[in-house]
Amino acid sequence: MQAGDFMLAINILLSGNNYLKIAHLFRYMNMQTVDETTFYRMQEWYCVDTIRSFWEEHRQTILAGLQEKDVVALGDGRMDSPGHCAQYCTYTAIENDSRDIINIVTIDKRETKRNSVAMEKEGFIRTMDALLPQVSLKEFCTDGHVQIAALMDPERGQYKDSGVKHTLDMWHAAKSLSKRLHAAGKVKNHSELLKWTKDVIAWFWICCNNASNYEEFMGLWRGLLYHVTGRHEWRFGACIHKPIPEDHIPEKPWMVAGSPVHQALQEAILNLRWIKNVPKYLNFRTTADLESFHSHMLMYASKRFSIDPPAYGARTLLAALDYNHHNARPPIVTKAGKNIHGMLWNKKSQH
Ligand SMILES: [Zn+2]
Repeated sequence: MQAGDFMLAINILLSGNNYLKIAHLFRYMNMQTVDETTFYRMQEWYCVDTIRSFWEEHRQTILAGLQEKDVVALGDGRMDSPGHCAQYCTYTAIENDSRDIINIVTIDKRETKRNSVAMEKEGFIRTMDALLPQVSLKEFCTDGHVQIAALMDPERGQYKDSGVKHTLDMWHAAKSLSKRLHAAGKVKNHSELLKWTKDVIAWFWICCNNASNYEEFMGLWRGLLYHVTGRHEWRFGACIHKPIPEDHIPEKPWMVAGSPVHQALQEAILNLRWIKNVPKYLNFRTTADLESFHSHMLMYASKRFSIDPPAYGARTLLAALDYNHHNARPPIVTKAGKNIHGMLWNKKSQH
């Protein structure tokens, strides 16, 4: 084998490319390329373990910087393909302040013989088990995965004595609330409710941002049921907005207190299962950054090609190294030094 072959084989992997596509390009250009068997051998013999140890070295440097700190981790799993055909679930944890990836683990379906829900649970367990002995983990924010919530249950969960508080992602909370309001608004004669959905979601964000405990949250949250009827002061409280001028014409009519629509709103916003999770929202966390990492992973591990487990794992680590390397990069600014902002569309919340 020639040195050029060696370089090519390694760099196909390091740049996140796919062997067959590059070989195809070389054929078009009438150039000789490294053969397929050699490529996979190079990958297996020289790359996978090196990438793994390079990542671990990098990760240890990050963890060393967190030693004096109470760490808040944000975690989420990503399937390599949707639904039941997923072969890999990659569970990633990010540190809340630096937004650096502090752990990444890939679960292989053939190894665990489980479905995607169970693979994500397994990914979470391995993440917790990796982080607990290494940092002072105080909080772990995830999406609304039921089995993870059970693991973190403060009375019965596997991690009940770990001292780690489980919190939930705000986007998922807003999404489940919005779903419930839409379902309630689809019932006959309740369509008026749909006009309020956006306001209710906005109010939810404000309540979470302003309340420091469950009681405060509920005080603000219940106030919504008065506000929608045009009543801004009541026996034990008042709205926190500025007084509404008497000549103000509302965009939509106020609800009639006690009407079927008002009752439907009450049922939707005071849904017991949802309310139970409120304390998990009050830290106002979001795992949205993980979605951007997950799309970054596509550059290294495209969903369109099947990749064997060691190479898949190595590719996720390359994506993590790349992500962390660019994480602290300053934002793009205009000549005048102003930040340039882009629009971000959250597919899950449709916002
Ligand atoms: Zn009000």
